[in-house]
Amino acid sequence: MLCYCKKCGRIVRCDNLDEQCDYCSSIVCPVPDEYLGGKSKGFIKKGLEQQFIDKYIKSSPEFDQYLFDHRDEDLSKRRMENKAKLEHGKAVLEEQARTPKCPSCGSSNISKIGVVGRAVSFKLVGFASSKIGKTHKCNNCGTMW
Ligand SMILES: [Zn+2]
Ligand SMILES: [Zn+2]
Repeated sequence: MLCYCKKCGRIVRCDNLDEQCDYCSSIVCPVPDEYLGGKSKGFIKKGLEQQFIDKYIKSSPEFDQYLFDHRDEDLSKRRMENKAKLEHGKAVLEEQARTPKCPSCGSSNISKIGVVGRAVSFKLVGFASSKIGKTHKCNNCGTMW
């Protein structure tokens, strides 16, 4: 089903009439059959778009010229923002995946115990050192693993 928003003029496919315009959140109305083209009636017939807009959208009392004029621009801005947010979120997740976490408390405030650190503790406290064989230390709870 193809629906239109009386307020901003957005034309969207929708599954039911309870759906709201994804731009201005107004309730959408179905586009009358005579304007629909294609096998699945998925679009407004070529050449009838302007007529449809004038007759059904611009003449509607809810019509908002400002929203109509800025709709496409705003929507593409929103898409860009969402994309940027998604990419930022992905970068954060990747960063988190790279950063080891403490197995006991989950803190990422971790120090790597390097080879040097292990050698030193070996010399100082010998085999009893709890650092032997462990490569990470949690600065939060002190767990080593
Ligand atoms: Zn709308
Ligand atoms: Zn910890």
